[in-house]
Amino acid sequence: MMSSTRPRASTIRLLIVSTLLGAAAIALGSLNPVLAAGTDFGPSNPFYAPSTLPFHAPPFDKIKDEDYQPAIDAGMAQQEAEIQAIANNSDVPTFDNTIVALEKSGQLLNRVMAAFEGVTGANTDDTLQKVRTIEAPKLAAHEDFIYLNPKLFARVKAIYQQRATLKLDPESLRLLEYDYDKFVHAGANLSDAYKTELREFNEEASSLSNTFSEKLLAATKAGAYVTTDKAALAGLSEARIAAAAENAKERKVEGFVLPLQNTTQQPDLVSLRDRATRQAIFEHSWNRTERGDANDTRGTIARLAQVRAQKAKLLGYPNFAAWQLEDQMAKTPQAALQFMDAIVPAATAKAASEAKDNQAVIDAQKGGFELQPWDWNFYAEQVRKARYDLDDAQVKPYFELNNVLQNGVFYAANQLYGLTFKERHDLPVYQPDVRVFDVFDANGKQLAVFYCDYFKRDNKNGGAWMSSFVDQSRLLGNLAVVYNVANFAKPAEGEPALISFTDVTTMFHEFGHALHGMLSDCEYPTLAGTSTARDFVEFPSQFNEHWALYPAIFAHYAKHYKTGAPMPEELAARIRKAETFNKGYDMTELLAAAELDMQWHSLPANAPLQNPDEFEKQALEKTHLNISYVPPRYHSTYFNHIWGGDGYSAGYYAYLWTEMLADDGYQWFVENGGLTRANGDRFRRMVLSRGNTEDLAKMYQSWRGAPPNTKAMLKYRGLEESAPAK
Ligand SMILES: [Zn+2]
Repeated sequence: MMSSTRPRASTIRLLIVSTLLGAAAIALGSLNPVLAAGTDFGPSNPFYAPSTLPFHAPPFDKIKDEDYQPAIDAGMAQQEAEIQAIANNSDVPTFDNTIVALEKSGQLLNRVMAAFEGVTGANTDDTLQKVRTIEAPKLAAHEDFIYLNPKLFARVKAIYQQRATLKLDPESLRLLEYDYDKFVHAGANLSDAYKTELREFNEEASSLSNTFSEKLLAATKAGAYVTTDKAALAGLSEARIAAAAENAKERKVEGFVLPLQNTTQQPDLVSLRDRATRQAIFEHSWNRTERGDANDTRGTIARLAQVRAQKAKLLGYPNFAAWQLEDQMAKTPQAALQFMDAIVPAATAKAASEAKDNQAVIDAQKGGFELQPWDWNFYAEQVRKARYDLDDAQVKPYFELNNVLQNGVFYAANQLYGLTFKERHDLPVYQPDVRVFDVFDANGKQLAVFYCDYFKRDNKNGGAWMSSFVDQSRLLGNLAVVYNVANFAKPAEGEPALISFTDVTTMFHEFGHALHGMLSDCEYPTLAGTSTARDFVEFPSQFNEHWALYPAIFAHYAKHYKTGAPMPEELAARIRKAETFNKGYDMTELLAAAELDMQWHSLPANAPLQNPDEFEKQALEKTHLNISYVPPRYHSTYFNHIWGGDGYSAGYYAYLWTEMLADDGYQWFVENGGLTRANGDRFRRMVLSRGNTEDLAKMYQSWRGAPPNTKAMLKYRGLEESAPAK
């Protein structure tokens, strides 16, 4: 599961916030954020001054919904004034009066946005949602105000051009290069005429992304499977059928409605016994945006790919992917493509052997048909049951949430990095389920504050994520205040929270992000903690997942909540074995989507408008991924990650790339004695504490002793013939 962990620091926060708010779809242009009429911002607003709580933790006991909007507006106005002062400074530009000054700007805005993002993600309401909608375009314009400011850029450029003579320390030099690249990336180096053209491309791209998202939303809704025949739903649970009847009532139609989710495969296909129903649902999913109606996205994405290619050309790049990857760990589309090409044979071979297993079940049941994508999950589930069945009721008593947290997640961090944790009850929280822990370093000094908010609520976003209320920065004198949020079922009053092994993995994953934030030891907030590239940020989190099954850790937390007895080895072995189940399919469908993304964004500016179906077929063929029973995780025409905004365009490979880093990185531990403080401290010193302060490929290689490779990744997924147990 991906967290929505986001780069934090000063100006980066804005970029991500605006993406988060859907403002990627908002046209560039109006450079002056207008303060809301009647803005009332003064000392009575809890964001007015830095929090006086330990570590500047947000004063949630004093913050009211009405406080956010005036504080956000005042925060933008304040940073605008700070930026003007830097840009109009009559002194010669220096690293201190420009680059460091930029780092110090926007503190009020950061303060309020950190709390605002936290509550809108995990504990939202109508008032907060309204504020989001109102503030999104203003935040986008505010970001343009900074990065399209010619006077500011002239200063940054002047300093950048003297960088060889400035004798900056490596982290400062990295910041200077980072800032300069960010301006250039946004088009600051272009002539005025080209800037106008760029703005037009950006506007058209935003508008096309917006159109795409609107069409997709409508298409996905319209693509729901509707039936009046209850027998067609055989295999679904009574609760699921009741929900389908409820959906129908809400939509005012007869019978039952199964809504589509965003991926190609649909969750009900695991249990639906009627093959015709499965096929119908699959086809609804696959064709949702290609019905020739108002929701058809083919024309939209063809043009969007073209506009992006033209924009890249204007900025001096051969294609959009080259522009997008320049500041990533992979650096070039070629590197990402080579990486993917290298794992295609193993992934597709494993998928082929899984297909054979599924076909064998079909044949044993005298099905008399050839496996199709709509059959895959139904038969794979039967294979899973036969081979690795994990009965949740049997497993969960060994995973009591608090025990997993303290004796698993925290214990691993103690063994690796020497950290200790102590719960505190005096810091205010935004909801009573939230818990707060002081985090102490091995020397006894407090290092950070950690909040966790694990239980599902109706007003919480789905999934799990990590983020921060305060980012570590030596320049600003801040230590990290970070949080993890998840959606585990809340037990009845007085009952223990027993969770699945998937939930356990989620806790380790999100805590891996938390460690990346808490162990940060950087000067500048822009480069600190999790503020790294898209193809690096999921490395510490996925790496941390490995410890959940590490024998010494597992034995320490997987104990029966009543008796304290360790989990029987036979059950533990099934959990380990299940880790490799269906991995051929999973990886192949991801690869197919990631290849599509990269091929679309490798088109040159002079390429004609593409026919999306033809293009997709050729792209998959070229990469040996045109496999009948494993369609891409997203068909080009409903691939929201890459068309709905810039977030993951030419970046979907990052999911797989960071898996490679996590497994290859864990392999270093395996090769060097496993779970030891010495290993943990070395990883902390060379990677986890360093944020984005060094070229990420170089940072990784210095620590690992070699560039990352895919061997461990294939091994842990059982994609190698001689896959040893993890
Ligand atoms: Zn994550």
